[in-house]
Amino acid sequence: MSAARSPHPATPSRKWPVAILGATGAVGQSFIRLLANHPWFEVAEVAASDRSAGKSYREATHWLESDLPARVARLTVGRCDPALVQAPIVFSALDAGVAGDVEAAFARAGRVVLSNAKNFRMEEDVPLVIPEVNASHLAALPVQRTRRGWRGAIVTNANCAATGAAVALAPLQAAFGIEQVFITTMQAVSGAGYPGVPSLDILGNVIPYIGEEEEKVERELPKLLGGWDGVAFRPASFAVSAHTNRVPVEHGHTACLSVKLNRRVTAAEAQDVLAAWRGDPSVMGLPTAPEQPLVVTMADARPQPRRDAMAGNGMTVTVGRVRRDPVLDLRLVAMSHNVIRGAAGGSVLNAEVLAARGEFASP
Ligand code: NAP
Repeated sequence: MSAARSPHPATPSRKWPVAILGATGAVGQSFIRLLANHPWFEVAEVAASDRSAGKSYREATHWLESDLPARVARLTVGRCDPALVQAPIVFSALDAGVAGDVEAAFARAGRVVLSNAKNFRMEEDVPLVIPEVNASHLAALPVQRTRRGWRGAIVTNANCAATGAAVALAPLQAAFGIEQVFITTMQAVSGAGYPGVPSLDILGNVIPYIGEEEEKVERELPKLLGGWDGVAFRPASFAVSAHTNRVPVEHGHTACLSVKLNRRVTAAEAQDVLAAWRGDPSVMGLPTAPEQPLVVTMADARPQPRRDAMAGNGMTVTVGRVRRDPVLDLRLVAMSHNVIRGAAGGSVLNAEVLAARGEFASP
């Protein structure tokens, strides 16, 4: 968020109270940090498993950084039950093992749930949203409500590895059309949550398997870059082949992409298209929206997680090494912060888009 920005026209006179489900985990903690001084939302309730319920947030949480906000530290962790949680806006950082039933119960009870879990991402009436790429998919919400009889709704954000790749591919899809994508990822340990991968397994090592990750990347990218036709999502027609690897990096997923396009393009043409892309204009100026959702670096040895993960406060995807591919058409490297753009920050931006569209009653 840029301090110099003037307030967005949709800024409410009072903040909306929000709840965080799974508040004690890695993504939950990222929500707490991102919302600490948010101009529209205030963390009113935190909830997690029975292991944490009843404790203060400070007591229940293995806080991973140094900046636990004092007000949140004193909140009592509740249970993930819509009868016990009041907030109309619910950010979910729940483990996928429980997210399905819990998120549906909240949506049924009239809450708008912004979910990080995989459970609903591929449902035919649930938007999977990176707003600069496909905010138009939010038009599915009335259909979701009618079909499911929910007063609330669920909006999901994408798998953290799919997110950076989707932002890098969106301008290429719009300008040239995509036929095939080969993607190899190098994914940070924070993507596995806390405590995640044991240190003796990952230090000095590369693990060429992340459970279900390749399948998620392969099915989510076409949905993200496809359309909503008023009745159903129409996935983009390109095929995706994914290799996903866990590497000893703290934050920041790197994706090496080889792309077959509908026509031959030069690297310079592709760079120009990528550098000019700003995404859906309705997202610009929202509190969590970065100045640029995508930046192109011309440096030979970038992007790098340590140097580039916090670009745009963790919301900007850095793309580099854009060059011709001797087998397909184009090669490039995309790097993004998995816990911010790929998780909590993406959810907060989705909520801001909904708020700016008048989706929430006045606080
Ligand atoms: P995590 O560190 O393991 O945290 C999981 C959270 O879920 C904790 O707050 C935990 O509470 C809660 N939980 C577990 N079992 C529960 C139950 N039975 N009832 C209620 N709450 C329960 O995981 P994470 O990395 O934050 O990931 C959270 C979600 O986001 C997952 O679905 C993950 O796939 C997704 N995601 C993660 C990333 C990333 O980069 N880490 C990116 C995108 C999406 P307790 O502390 O009480 O156990």
